[in-house]
Amino acid sequence: VRASRITQLAKIIWAGPCSAVGLVLAGLVLTLGGRIRFASGILEATYRERKATCGSVARGLPFRAITFGHVVIAVTAQDLDGCRTHELVHVRQYERWGLLFFLAYPLSSLLQLLRGRRPYWDNRFEVEARQRCGETGADARDA
Ligand SMILES: [Zn+2]
Repeated sequence: VRASRITQLAKIIWAGPCSAVGLVLAGLVLTLGGRIRFASGILEATYRERKATCGSVARGLPFRAITFGHVVIAVTAQDLDGCRTHELVHVRQYERWGLLFFLAYPLSSLLQLLRGRRPYWDNRFEVEARQRCGETGADARDA
């Protein structure tokens, strides 16, 4: 067995408790008529194919996709195509932090809030995810 395989296995186990939460949610998405697919070591769950047909409640959700360990859950397949690179950065963050990510992420938001910054936008993990996949925009410059 190659060393890289052992490293990959260790990452899957390390992020495992977080992936378990994602698996439960992916199961819920399946129950609601969504789909799951496995690609490059990531389980992707999507509720509907397109924004136009996902219904007003799903369309109004404050997020388009969310990552738990090696599980990425998106409202629609369309949303997932738009943010897969960003979510993959979060997967790498879970591989680094493991279960501690469930503490580190909200803690980073809290720190931003205490500094008078925006808890989501200025969260260090979100900043990294945006930088790694080259996301920009007016908001990125006004901080
Ligand atoms: Zn993000």
